[in-house]
Amino acid sequence: MAENWFTIDKINDFTYAISEYRHPEETHCYLLLGEEKTLLIDSGLGVCNIYEQVLQLTDKPLAAVATHVHWDHIGGHQYFSEWYAHSAELPWLQGEFPLPKAAIQKMLAGNCDLPKEYDAERYELFQGIPTRLLEDGDVLELGNRSIKVLHTPGHSPGHMCFWDALYGFMYTGDLIYKGLLYANYTSTDPGAYLKSVEKIAKYPVRRLFPGHHSLEISTNLLPQVKKTLQSLQSEGRLCHGSGRLDYEDWSILL
Ligand SMILES: [Zn+2]
Ligand SMILES: [Zn+2]
Repeated sequence: MAENWFTIDKINDFTYAISEYRHPEETHCYLLLGEEKTLLIDSGLGVCNIYEQVLQLTDKPLAAVATHVHWDHIGGHQYFSEWYAHSAELPWLQGEFPLPKAAIQKMLAGNCDLPKEYDAERYELFQGIPTRLLEDGDVLELGNRSIKVLHTPGHSPGHMCFWDALYGFMYTGDLIYKGLLYANYTSTDPGAYLKSVEKIAKYPVRRLFPGHHSLEISTNLLPQVKKTLQSLQSEGRLCHGSGRLDYEDWSILL
């Protein structure tokens, strides 16, 4: 069933993007291979079995982590016995996710080019208790490859970006991508959003890997978003209710 559902792009010998382009938000997950361990950053919608794809790319012990626990980033966590999350989003993993299951099922049935055999009514929101809680500054050791956890709230309270120092890769989840950024939900925080962008902009990023849409992103996007949000803040417009603001190749909903 997973045939043609996932698109796998090799970024380098030890890094892959696993993408779901048949969902309009074009979700990306990233597989990071170390000498001892493999880490999956985000696990997608959970419509097809991402674990089977992962097993074709690694034979090392596996762990999954999500940049944040919005439903389209944790759907495949059900296949992993070891997975991590930020403590700020624990309630969402234990019955308090703000979006009802029926709304997600409706989005899947209405917006997605689902596999024929998949019945959106079968969809269940992933819930569970992480094997490890992450905090800002934690390091995930994969064996000659260390991934630093950066707590980057704003889009969601426990959002994390991951810094892959070996290659200068920054995995940005829903904080930065080319497309419409969401900072309008009740659980978002536009001021924290800017602080998080400022935080990751301090790293010597060689490539940005986003949670959605185009994989080809100029590293200039990061200072552009930072500068724009800083201007909005100085104008008093970096707050809920400012609406949708469109820029060259990205937009933000406040
Ligand atoms: Zn999100
Ligand atoms: Zn997302």
